[in-house]
Amino acid sequence: MFQVKSIKIDIFEMGKISRSEEIVKKQVLVLYVGGTIGMKKNDDGVYVPVPHIFYDQLKSLPEMHDSGLASKYFPDLADNQLVLPQFENNVILYQLVEYDPLLDSSNLTMSDWIKMANDIKANYNDFNGIVILHGTDTLAYTSSVLSFMIKGLQKPVIVTGAQISIFEIRSDAINNIQNSLILAGCYQIPEICAFFDHKLLRGNRTTKVRLTKFNAYRSPNYGPLANAETAIELKDGNIMKPDPAVPFEVTTTLNSNVRVITFFPTITPSMLESVLQEPTAGVVIQSYGAGNIPSNQPELIDALKKAVARNVLIVNITVCLQGSVVSIYDTGKVLADIGVISGRDMTLEAALTKLCVVLGYPDLSHDQRVELLKQNMRGELTPLDVTDDNNNNNNNNL
Ligand code: ASP
Repeated sequence: MFQVKSIKIDIFEMGKISRSEEIVKKQVLVLYVGGTIGMKKNDDGVYVPVPHIFYDQLKSLPEMHDSGLASKYFPDLADNQLVLPQFENNVILYQLVEYDPLLDSSNLTMSDWIKMANDIKANYNDFNGIVILHGTDTLAYTSSVLSFMIKGLQKPVIVTGAQISIFEIRSDAINNIQNSLILAGCYQIPEICAFFDHKLLRGNRTTKVRLTKFNAYRSPNYGPLANAETAIELKDGNIMKPDPAVPFEVTTTLNSNVRVITFFPTITPSMLESVLQEPTAGVVIQSYGAGNIPSNQPELIDALKKAVARNVLIVNITVCLQGSVVSIYDTGKVLADIGVISGRDMTLEAALTKLCVVLGYPDLSHDQRVELLKQNMRGELTPLDVTDDNNNNNNNNL
């Protein structure tokens, strides 16, 4: 493993400049999980991940690998390492770890989240930051669940992907990988993030809103952490300031007995009951507007009430993309009154994965789990006493 260190070199360029400049070596681990970013069409004409070709493709692209810098600073390059062209005074060495099998992210399961979390844990001390190359379909679930699984994070972990494969013309892969490597290698952003289309977003505030556009993601209730346009501009006020005294820890015990109920006008009590029955341990309700459900149908309320009495944890979020659950109508207060927890402005991805993690913690009482769900654990929700203005919520251009 290379040491992260800085070295002095003399730069003498075309007789114009003669000065001493500090070159800083950075190291980034890249976990390549799968996704369109590395896919090709198969014989049926549909996209699938193809193993063992991504590294060579990166190596062949001058934007992704600078062989001159590599031989100058890293003459003993391993066969999964590459060197990004110099960014300011940083030379970033990155190491690609390809998952086996590579996955379309629609095929990901909980065990893949656990594998990623374990890989982050195993390599955390050896790298300046970590980048995960991931399919776009469930990227927001992964960036959300990792944020809850990992505590005391002091370095960037950036999940990114692409809408067009790196093997095709007009791919957005190069831009997304380059910026993710630079942000992960050279900046102090102690968060699980999602990078896409020139924006760095908080992972557990991110959701996929567009199928075919390059700007596929939005963070509807929280401002970006950074913009990577012609200059990289960090939004310091939006970035977490973790307590250095909190040790780095990864939890890998997740509870999969978590469901989602989206309300719709023709929902029946028996539909609700079938989702709420054992072994269901946690439920995310996607309600209307400010957190409302039909309050004039006692059987629906009763089904929820019985589940709460069995200690099923029920978190209420709004089906609206933007805004926060608040009891301003009788149709919303009815949920709060029976012990349903307000999920405030959490995304579906954040609410579901938070439940998986909080229910998975061993040795917690039911009341402690309820308290954690109400809390802003990793910047995933805006507490009741924080207004939109001091939430830095300047991301209203949906
Ligand atoms: N189905 C792909 C995936 O999520 C879509 C993508 O990567 O853009 O893996």
